[in-house]
Amino acid sequence: MYELAEKLFPICRSIMGEGTRETLRIVRDEYMPDMEIINVPCGTKVFDWTIPNEWVIRDAYIANSRGEKIIDFKENNLHVVGYSYPVDEYVDLEELKKHIYVEEQDEDAIPYVTSYYVKRYGFCMTMKQRDSLPEDTYHMYIDSEFKTGEEGGVLSIGEVLIPGESEQEIFFSTYDCHPSMCNDQLSGICTMTEVYKYIKSMPRRRYSYRLIIIPETIGSITYLSKNIDVMKKNIIAGFNMTCVGDNLDYSYVQTKYADTLADKVIANVLKYHYPDYHAYSFLKRGSDERQYCAPGVELPVVAFCRSKFGEFPEYHTSKDNLSFISEEGLQGAYEVMRQCIDALEANYYYRVKCLCEPQLGKRGLFPTISKRGSYNAIQVMTHFITYADGRNDIIDISNIIGAPVSEIIPIAKTLLENDLIEVVER
Ligand code: ZN
Repeated sequence: MYELAEKLFPICRSIMGEGTRETLRIVRDEYMPDMEIINVPCGTKVFDWTIPNEWVIRDAYIANSRGEKIIDFKENNLHVVGYSYPVDEYVDLEELKKHIYVEEQDEDAIPYVTSYYVKRYGFCMTMKQRDSLPEDTYHMYIDSEFKTGEEGGVLSIGEVLIPGESEQEIFFSTYDCHPSMCNDQLSGICTMTEVYKYIKSMPRRRYSYRLIIIPETIGSITYLSKNIDVMKKNIIAGFNMTCVGDNLDYSYVQTKYADTLADKVIANVLKYHYPDYHAYSFLKRGSDERQYCAPGVELPVVAFCRSKFGEFPEYHTSKDNLSFISEEGLQGAYEVMRQCIDALEANYYYRVKCLCEPQLGKRGLFPTISKRGSYNAIQVMTHFITYADGRNDIIDISNIIGAPVSEIIPIAKTLLENDLIEVVER
């Protein structure tokens, strides 16, 4: 996963354009071969929005009067404000500063700034650099253009549909619209490739899976505008993966009322995986969960993060780079997603088939000598049987008896094989 982040890091992505397409091509060709790339023309109306024109960025720099470039887009693509209009002007320091954006919280970081829907141009640099600029004549140069739908401008979506036994779906979404930053963005793509690999390797899939890579906001709105009916009909739980590559925290943003299967499963998995996790209410939303849980859309989709967007100081700056994420961090996030998949796939209602406690000993399931200590080894099994009364799904039982679903799944399997429990259809 980290290798993929290294490969994608230098590419200048935006909500649309060649960098985003190149990113999708690499992911498809090297990691997710059955991914479809769907292109929707710029100018298409999607619910209350219109897909903006594609941004083509070729070059951007500020040079001093000696012709020395003091910042250069080719060295760090955060130096240009995303969706900047072209400019080729010579200005004094005072005028230059009107077009420079800095990170107020950290004098050594270059901020990530965009202006998709308001026409402007601008540059980003560290506060330290801006404040040390001498009086001079500066050359502001941006070579960019905008491509309409008629000129071939498109919004690109990566989509994978993996069928299972049921039409009901588990949904994963992440986004690909940020330039060179790692936790906020690339981490989601990297984790998705591993989730994909896991889903493909499952010997049996009870559920179908829908995985998408889109530009944030306009991408999820566009995707929903084309698929809302089937998504509302089929999705039982979904995860918007964002900021999942650091190894500090684990967190998730709940759905609007925190009452969906996605909320339930991720809270359960995180409780055992990382007890200090944070559950943020929907009032702290910020990524595509805003669209997935909007009125009338109401999909059961949480946002899954390690350190949540906006909550870590490196967020949206040049310090959210390859040294801020790690293979270990990505692996931990993948592990949580895998456990959510496992729990959902195994999430049946069970009922024990006999009255009173079953005699486990005669089936070789219980130590036949009763002494202190020997009971604890199978306490989880007996607790599970006690609550396998048809009222609780496996996640409920996990919550009640204090054992992770991953420990209960093999027990349920053993009891099924011994014909001691049955699945209750609901
Ligand atoms: Zn972001």
